[in-house]
Amino acid sequence: MNKTIAVIRGDGIGPEIVGEAIGVLDAMAAKFGHTFTYQEAPMGGNAIDAFGVPLPDSSLETCLAADSVLLGAVGGPKWDSQPSANRPERGLLKLRGAMGLYSNVRPARMFSDLSAACPLRADIAARGIDFVVVRELIGGVYFGSHSTEEVDGEQKATDIMAYSEHEIRRVARVAFDMARKRRKRVTSIDKANVLDTSRLWRKTVTEVAAEYPDVELRHMYVDNAAMQMVRDPSQFDVIVTENLFGDILSDEASQITGSIGMIPSSSMGDGTRGLYEPIHGSAPDIAGQDKANPIGTILAAAMMLRYSFDMAAEADAVEAAVDKVLKDGYRCGDILGESGTLVGCREMGSLIRQRI
Ligand code: NAD
Repeated sequence: MNKTIAVIRGDGIGPEIVGEAIGVLDAMAAKFGHTFTYQEAPMGGNAIDAFGVPLPDSSLETCLAADSVLLGAVGGPKWDSQPSANRPERGLLKLRGAMGLYSNVRPARMFSDLSAACPLRADIAARGIDFVVVRELIGGVYFGSHSTEEVDGEQKATDIMAYSEHEIRRVARVAFDMARKRRKRVTSIDKANVLDTSRLWRKTVTEVAAEYPDVELRHMYVDNAAMQMVRDPSQFDVIVTENLFGDILSDEASQITGSIGMIPSSSMGDGTRGLYEPIHGSAPDIAGQDKANPIGTILAAAMMLRYSFDMAAEADAVEAAVDKVLKDGYRCGDILGESGTLVGCREMGSLIRQRI
């Protein structure tokens, strides 16, 4: 297969980790007979330096024309004094909007060899953690109107939370499609005992479930879900939830698995094109020192293979290579425990390539 990938290396550790992810993609392409063409799309602080704006039109066009987009991270102290309309993150928000990315997908997967980094009790961790949080990204209370006014001599603040059926339906389909590629179980999380938006959420997700008779659906209240996630995370396969609940639960999900440097994410809209990135930022404190853990970005590239290119065997091969490197005891600084061999970003990439 031939695929074009827009590459946003970004700032800080971005170029280092993206370089290793591309190396792994190339090793995988050679093994499976694919051709990937990479097109550079400058974005973030480096784009402000070179073009005066965080997302030049040419970069946006490159991303919109590509089969998918791989991103390192953007931002850093050098650009903190930029006016808010021209900050590096503005580029990311503009890109998400232009690509119509309404769902964010974050896997929470614990590597058995890193179970010591799991903050949960050993017997809970031993059952394994391998689920995905699908979060609605451009609706709900974050996108409703916000106001603060004086009422009866005191300040009163209001945030509007609204959802339409089509906003719920499209993100529910992302979750059900994903479940079909996994263990075929969806948990929809809401607060339907209190909120109208949640009652509509529950009704609409149930309707969508009828299109997927092979996928099991269950509903859970958000307060119970937060508890179940630490009590027995092994029960989850795909979680789907609205923007605010997803923001909180996806951070909880990341935390229970261990290091921030290990976790990928994808943002999807209609169609198969997505934006794939690690969940961390540009880590300016370790940039240019060959200390960054590239695994989050390499696993983001694996997600791209699985979900945008329908290359499940190839994605499995990348994930298995990461597993093997960890089993063999190699660690970047952020995941180095009592034992283990410390390696830098470049060597970690090379060790993963060798195992593909
Ligand atoms: P950060 O995630 O960059 O770093 C937090 C801590 O985690 C740092 O100590 C860093 O060294 C460490 N860390 C992060 N990724 C690592 C990796 N792969 N390997 C080893 N250690 C790693 O968060 P921050 O310091 O709050 O933000 C730095 C910059 O990144 C800011 O400008 C912020 O706006 C930006 N940011 C960008 C994105 C994005 O591009 N999507 C996301 C978050 C933050």
